Order: sequence, then structure tokens, then C-alpha cells
Amino acid sequence: MIRMKTSSYFLPDLRDAPSEATTASHRWMLQSGMIQSTVSGIFTWLPLGLRVLEKIKTIIRQEQNAIGALEMLAPTLQPATLWQESGRYDDYGLEMLRINDRHDRVLVYGPTAEEVFVDVVRRCVQSYKSFPLNLYNIQWKFRDEIRPRFGVMRGREFLMKDGYSFDLTEKASKITYRNVFRAYMRSFYRMGLSVIPLQATTGPIGGDFSHEFHVVAQTGESALYYDAVLDDRNVPRFEVSDFQGIYAMVDEKHAPEQCPVPLNQLRVARGIEVGHIFHFGDKYSAPMNAQVFLKEGRKVNLQMGSYGIGVSRLVGAVIEAFHDERGIQWPISIAPFSLGLMHLQESLEPEAAHVYDRLQAAGIETLWEDRPLSSGEKFALMDMWGLPFQAILSEKNHHKGHIEVKIRRTGERHFFALEEFLQWIL
Ligand code: ATP
Ligand code: MG
Ligand code: MG
Ligand code: MG
Repeated sequence: MIRMKTSSYFLPDLRDAPSEATTASHRWMLQSGMIQSTVSGIFTWLPLGLRVLEKIKTIIRQEQNAIGALEMLAPTLQPATLWQESGRYDDYGLEMLRINDRHDRVLVYGPTAEEVFVDVVRRCVQSYKSFPLNLYNIQWKFRDEIRPRFGVMRGREFLMKDGYSFDLTEKASKITYRNVFRAYMRSFYRMGLSVIPLQATTGPIGGDFSHEFHVVAQTGESALYYDAVLDDRNVPRFEVSDFQGIYAMVDEKHAPEQCPVPLNQLRVARGIEVGHIFHFGDKYSAPMNAQVFLKEGRKVNLQMGSYGIGVSRLVGAVIEAFHDERGIQWPISIAPFSLGLMHLQESLEPEAAHVYDRLQAAGIETLWEDRPLSSGEKFALMDMWGLPFQAILSEKNHHKGHIEVKIRRTGERHFFALEEFLQWIL
């Protein structure tokens, strides 16, 4: 089996903080070799970064599948005619990238995909028996942001999980909305994040009922207003009903004169928007004629919701939440590797190979720093990559039969014999 060694891995050599980075996540993603900037707001994902992106996708996918949502894949390019039909073609403005093909037909690089999903559904389902339907995809989007910045957090091309639900009645569609809300909260929780859901306005997507999900962080671009009780992380809250009656508003929804929370109890914070869900009834199904006949013969517009998670933005948001001055501190569920292995003297290479193989056999994803670097350089790199555990082999400890293990997040160190170590980590 192949051992993942830094000597044969693809890692760029950036000693210093890149000058364009103004936030921790942008800096560490470039410096640790997760991404490269290709052109403003557009990134290439290198092997290390792609591993994290894929793990985030897997968590999101599992939680969507668990509520019965079905994965599919819509194209990135869409015909402008669909957007004219929904009435959004002109509203979307300069953020939408429009492309003329060789026949002079206009395509858009999808900034979102309500129209495409409505079109898919209206073309193949006539009977009420096909519903409810909850479809999603994880696909690249493009928005020509006026100020791309903070690396992947405000890119122009970015990965979004977007889902669209179709129900026969408003009541059923609100139940779907609640299921997606829970799946979102569970997804963020599994990534180690504490995320606050807030009531939101519906913006250009439109509709009548909406929540935004935010990671509280100083570098966030949104202003949040919420009751301090939400800072209590001891109670995991996943359901819409767990938040009912607790004041939490994004900037545009916050009305100081109507806020029931006393000032000393009101948190005013910055947030990174990692998800956004809408219930909007027939806003798209009416103009686009997505209708079905009910059992009793009556024709109704489908009731819809749409649900988005910023998959690539989450990579940055997690780093904003978990880093220190030396680098990243990955939560174990989405770390590119669980453990970084290093040997500090050349003579210990065979021992390191043996430890690697035992870890691999135990299913622990390991990156081995095997290059001829100084111990200090190895420690610095390991801390920057932020793998949750480090295993350090040195001659001093080897004589005592010990492996040194460092927990990146806490800095705690343990000394174990190999068998003990394997038992501890499993
Ligand atoms: P923002 O307020 O940050 O501009 P948005 O409200 O325009 O985001 P939505 O239309 O709600 O975004 O899209 C769903 C999700 O896609 C957002 O919650 C966010 O996580 C992500 N997203 C939106 N724009 C970007 C971007 N430029 N780069 C990365 N992720 C983005
Ligand atoms: Mg936006
Ligand atoms: Mg927004
Ligand atoms: Mg939004």
C-alpha cells in the first residue's frame, strides 16, 4: 500500500504569509498548500485542500440523504431563456455571468439553480403521486462578486450544495423546510462548528420565510443580533422548535425598536453566512407553470423551498473558527489527515515506516513528514497543517520504547508504547 509521504506529496513551499491574505483562513489555506489562486476569486484546489472539501461534501450528503433528499447533478451552464421565464434575468444584474455561444444563444453560468430544478420537475412529473420530492446537487456556481476576497469565503466560482423541495401543500412544504433545517444544523455540528440560525430576509431569491446559518467570527461580513442564550453551547439544538421564540435576526431584519431582548442580553456579533434556506411557495412554480393535478382533479402550483450551503466557504469558515498563531486546528471529522507522523533522526526511518503501516492498518489517515528537515521545521509545518494528532519519533524516546503524541488543539502531550498508542487512538 502507498504511504502518504510529504516527499512525494504535492505541497507548495511557502515560507512566508502570502501578502494578499488578510484573514487567517486565506493565509493558512495558501500557505499550507490547500489551494492556489488562479485568477481573482477563482481557485485551484490542491490535493490537501481537496481532501477537506470532499469530507465536508460527504457529511452534507449523508445528512441530506438521511432526510430523504435525492442527489442529482445539474449543469453549471443554463439557458438564459429559463431565467427570462421566471422573471429573474434582469433582476440578477452584474453578478450573473452571461455567455454567448457560437449560435449567439445566451447561456448563464448558474449563480443558483431554482429555474433548472423547476424545469426538470415540470417536464417529467404530472401526477400528485410523485410528490413530495426533495432534490439536491453539489455543484460549482459563479457570481461575479464586485469584491472577491477572503479567499474561498467570497470567491467568484464556489461550490454550493443547493437543494429544492416540491410539495403539494403549504403545510407539507413547511414540514420539509423543518427537516432540511435539522439536516443543516446536524451537518454543521458534525463539522465541529457552532452555528446560529437567524431569521433572514429573502433577498433576490424571494419568498416569505427564511433562515440564515452563521458562524460567529470577527472576520464575518454580516452583522448579527441575537439573544445571549444562544451562546450556551451545552444544549445541542437542531430543531426549528428549539429556536422558537428566541430572538435572532440578521442585520436587515433587526429592528431595534421592536427587539424584545434587553440591551445587556442582546449579542451584537459578526457572522459568516454558511447556509441559507427559503420557503417561497409558488414564486417560481406559478410563472413557470410547474403544476400538478391533485387526486380530486384540482390543479395546484407546486409549493417550493430552496436550500443552500456554501461548501467551499465552509472550509474557510472552519479555519476562522479553529486556528492559532501557528496554523490550523482541524476538527477530526474534516481534517485532511487525522495524524501527522514525523521522525526526528534519519536512523528512525524504518521505525517510522513500521508505525505508519500499523496506523494505516488501523484505518488512521496519516501524513508522514519524511523530508530531511530540521526538527523545528517539521514542528512548524505540522502545526500549520493542523492535523488533530502528531506522532513524534525521536532517538531519546525510542530508547525508552516511547512514541510522543501531541494533540494539536490543546498542545497536550502523551508518551506511549506503540501498542498502547494504537489502543489510545482507536
Ligand atoms: P452573501 O450574503 O455572503 O453574499 P448570499 O446570501 O448572496 O451570500 P445565497 O444566495 O444565500 O448567498 O447562497 C447560499 C450560500 O452560498 C450562502 O449562504 C454562502 O454560504 C454561499 N455563498 C454565496 N456567495 C458565495 C461566494 N461568493 N463565495 C463562496 N460562497 C458563497
Ligand atoms: Mg451574495
Ligand atoms: Mg447573504
Ligand atoms: Mg443568502
